[in-house]
Amino acid sequence: MDDLDMLPMAQRKYGLDIVEPRQWPRDGGARREPVYDPNFEPPRLVRLVGWRSCMCCGDLFFSSDVRRQRLHPEGCTYQYI
Ligand SMILES: [Zn+2]
Repeated sequence: MDDLDMLPMAQRKYGLDIVEPRQWPRDGGARREPVYDPNFEPPRLVRLVGWRSCMCCGDLFFSSDVRRQRLHPEGCTYQYI
């Protein structure tokens, strides 16, 4: 593994996996964990992971992309009265 890592990025014949952060306890959206794609030099920021409030019901959920995923991923259960 180490000798393969010595190759410049453009000469590698394999891709590096994106490391997904594990979910952490609710913090009200204070912490944002960056997800990098290590196949770029320098590594490219793909998205930010963290807790955010749902645009529909306002409840917190763990979002794999805090900018794009703004509603409960499994469907919001909020009921309009
Ligand atoms: Zn919701």
